[in-house]
Amino acid sequence: MALNIKIIPVTPYEQNCTLLWDDETNEAVLTDLGGNAAEIWHIIQKKHLNLKEIWLTHGHLDHVGGVVAMRELTDTPVIGPHCDDLFLLEDLSNKTREYAKYGFEFSTNFLPTRWLNEGEVLSVGQYEFSVLHIPGHTPGHVVFYCEREKLLIAGDVLFKESIGRTDFPRGNTQDLHHGIRTKLYRLPENVVVIPGHRETTTIGHEKIYNPYVRAE
Ligand SMILES: [Zn+2]
Ligand SMILES: [Zn+2]
Repeated sequence: MALNIKIIPVTPYEQNCTLLWDDETNEAVLTDLGGNAAEIWHIIQKKHLNLKEIWLTHGHLDHVGGVVAMRELTDTPVIGPHCDDLFLLEDLSNKTREYAKYGFEFSTNFLPTRWLNEGEVLSVGQYEFSVLHIPGHTPGHVVFYCEREKLLIAGDVLFKESIGRTDFPRGNTQDLHHGIRTKLYRLPENVVVIPGHRETTTIGHEKIYNPYVRAE
């Protein structure tokens, strides 16, 4: 019995859409479904999983662009991000139209089934994830932390030896640094971080080697 993890890079930005499932109950969750919905739905069906929810860390197109297409295939509740990212979801159809020239799929606008707040708890099978609200890359950015499995779905907050950009609309460098220091760097060092892009890392590694935010 285990929490299974499959990272599926999607969109031209190779965003780490992550399929999480409990192999005892076959319940599954997708995080940050940025695109490639049909391909991912095929994977879910082949594994005979029950897709319970789609969890979103923030409203950027490479993280949410596949949600509408997936909901046309299967009626799945969409959870998150924090409501401060509403302005991004309201601009999704414009953004995906504008980025079609870079190979992004078009998406209409959508609203999540519900927004998330700091301290909420989500679950996939018997595995619970707490929600941490870490603004800065976007104002409504949340991350998902599973204490039992020492796993963090970090979106575009923390990368291997890097952090999220803050030069987008409503970005805030100070908020991002503060959130990483006070929320993420207090997690156990052996927590594995799945960032929104590129390879995984650990909290312990970032506390030493991250050139942007060092542990205090
Ligand atoms: Zn982003
Ligand atoms: Zn991203």
